[in-house]
Amino acid sequence: MTTTATAEPSARASSMPERSSETFDMLIVGAGISGIGAAWHLKTQSPATRFVILETQDDFGGTWRTHRYPGIRSDSDLYTFGYRFKPWTGAPIASADKILSYMQEVIDEKDLARHIRYRHRIDSANWSGEDRLWHLEVTRLDTNESLRFSTRFLWMCQGYYRHAQGYTPEWPGMDRFKGQIVHPQNWPEDLDLSGKRVVVIGSGATAATIVPAVTAQCGHVTLLQRSPTYFITGRNANVLADTLRELDIDETWIHEIVRRKILFDQSVFTRRCETEPEVVTRELLGGVKAYLGEDYDVARHFTPRYAPWKQRIAFIPDGDLFRGIRSGKASVVTDEIDTYNETGLLLKSGTQLDADVIITATGFNLNVLGDIAFSIDGKPLDFASTVSYRGLMFTGVPNMLWVFGYFRASWTLRVDIVADFICRLLKEMEARKATVVTPALRPQDQGMPLSPWVDPGNFNPGYIMRGLHLLPRQGDRQPWKHGQDYMTEKDELPAADLGDGALIFK
Ligand SMILES: Cc1cc2nc3c(=O)[nH]c(=O)nc-3n(C[C@H](O)[C@H](O)[C@H](O)COP(=O)(O)OP(=O)(O)OC[C@H]3O[C@@H](n4cnc5c(N)ncnc54)[C@H](O)[C@@H]3O)c2cc1C
Repeated sequence: MTTTATAEPSARASSMPERSSETFDMLIVGAGISGIGAAWHLKTQSPATRFVILETQDDFGGTWRTHRYPGIRSDSDLYTFGYRFKPWTGAPIASADKILSYMQEVIDEKDLARHIRYRHRIDSANWSGEDRLWHLEVTRLDTNESLRFSTRFLWMCQGYYRHAQGYTPEWPGMDRFKGQIVHPQNWPEDLDLSGKRVVVIGSGATAATIVPAVTAQCGHVTLLQRSPTYFITGRNANVLADTLRELDIDETWIHEIVRRKILFDQSVFTRRCETEPEVVTRELLGGVKAYLGEDYDVARHFTPRYAPWKQRIAFIPDGDLFRGIRSGKASVVTDEIDTYNETGLLLKSGTQLDADVIITATGFNLNVLGDIAFSIDGKPLDFASTVSYRGLMFTGVPNMLWVFGYFRASWTLRVDIVADFICRLLKEMEARKATVVTPALRPQDQGMPLSPWVDPGNFNPGYIMRGLHLLPRQGDRQPWKHGQDYMTEKDELPAADLGDGALIFK
């Protein structure tokens, strides 16, 4: 890799101690599926850009490396969760190890490994207007060394939650519980559930994955939820992909055709959720009833209080969760925890739920831009006081782009189109002989109504609601809106006018 080792040029400006620093054109934060995708695009679309990826963990994969609980799998199909440029050839719902193998192939095919520095945690980043560079303080976790990196651009691919520790609400009496409490994000390698009474707290995709994966070995497993979630059931297969394969169609074509078909079907489904939510609800619940039978209390345990699509709908491949419930080895309790006690949980209804192991599939701790202490010319940066430029840059923040994927569609769809945008922006800067680009509200945007990063009435999972006040805000018009609709953005982003005055080039 070409890097420039320099005596730190900005030591005066940022009042940091003199130390050697490596300087890059682009620094990608994180080697998860977003960071690896970013690097692939950069190397393909902007091959002269000197770049590095810094990653806290000791290997690539992000989410797919951190989560090691039994059954860990995607809940999106991999035709759309996979990159646009790399055909997916397996079953649509994939286990973490298959996703990691897919990413490994991408890394190998583009020779990306030599650009990645593992065990490098970025602690702070200061933009120096004098140098026109970001200066980063980085801890090398294996040696505990403090390192400095400088970069013209930051491509933030750090995801949205803290990898070190998941979110567990504090319930009274937790310290009294004699059994084991486990968060899925910190799954102990030697956890033995054989014959145990296990309670999984949560109702999302994680809980719905763990329950069927551990049902066979446990004495009994109970899914304890405060309120139900929508699930879609179906075979873990894509009929169109299988047919095209039988016809010996090239995998590149299959990938593109199947992606389009899935996206088309999803947009029809999303529209139906808005126009005929009752019909969609009936269909979703019908899928559950088909497994659990008419005598099961689907109204209580599987009928959410919200309309379909207000939160991500988890896919249950081959109905595995429901088959466990039907067999009697797994059950669902819809209730609230009053307190933990020595033997388990006392619920608000008065029911006692005894357990040997309690698994808290209760979500994430939101991390705003990698928990990095950002500053601009030494002044701390509060992202909540900025306005988002198309959900990927921020007013007053120079040379920084953030990949925040889709909630309802596959996250990665946005990785590809944001990368196209960034590479186009780099070319535009070269043409303008500019080294700095900063979004700024134009005179006609001054005083426009601002709203939260995501509309809580439209999408409201707990981890976002808990951290919404920390996130940038959005305006009521483009280019200040944070779109969460791939079908709109796939056309809008490539057509975005870089000369509309909202981006200041210097
Ligand atoms: C169990 C689970 C299943 C999921 N399934 C799906 C799914 O099926 N479909 C879907 O669309 N989405 C899914 N998601 C959401 C998922 O997180 C994203 O889709 C996607 O994997 C995020 O990738 P990422 O690279 O943006 O972030 P991450 O996977 O979070 O990776 C970010 C990386 O950045 C590193 N990093 C962060 N801060 C720093 C720092 N300061 N310095 C250095 N490195 C840093 C982290 O260590 C991490 O490796 C799932 C999430 C979970 C937890």
